[in-house]
Amino acid sequence: MKCPFCGGTNDQVLDSRPIEHTSAVRRRRQCFSCKKRYTTFERPEEVALMVVKSNNSREPFDRKKVWVGIDRACKKCQVSAATIDRLVSEIENEILSEYIMEIPSTTIGEKILRKLWDIDLVAYVRFASVYRKFSDIDTFMVELKKLKKEHIKRQKK
Ligand SMILES: [Zn+2]
Repeated sequence: MKCPFCGGTNDQVLDSRPIEHTSAVRRRRQCFSCKKRYTTFERPEEVALMVVKSNNSREPFDRKKVWVGIDRACKKCQVSAATIDRLVSEIENEILSEYIMEIPSTTIGEKILRKLWDIDLVAYVRFASVYRKFSDIDTFMVELKKLKKEHIKRQKK
């Protein structure tokens, strides 16, 4: 396993548990080099969940891609690596328990958006702008108005 933080390849498995109804195992690992902790989700390759993309091509689900997408959206936001790791694990667990054979990539995108909405609005809009590819200024403005409202609501709390 490669550490998502420093790229180190030596780690220790702290905890290992099977996921119900699947042949997958979830492992909590700690990197020997940087001592950071992360979660891996392992299942036999032959039963890999396939992601169906908008052009109908398929590729095996890759936790790392979810991680990269969220990490990119969270740049310069106050979201810790541990939080990102937790989000990725939550999303992955949802996906792997709800879908057996394949999942549309759009479903993964919506799940990520729902999580980011609760965590950080700036990260949310960043991810949305890439993922939803706002094609015109009007759709973007609608999204921004929604955010503005939510932001004000949160400040009053
Ligand atoms: Zn490391």
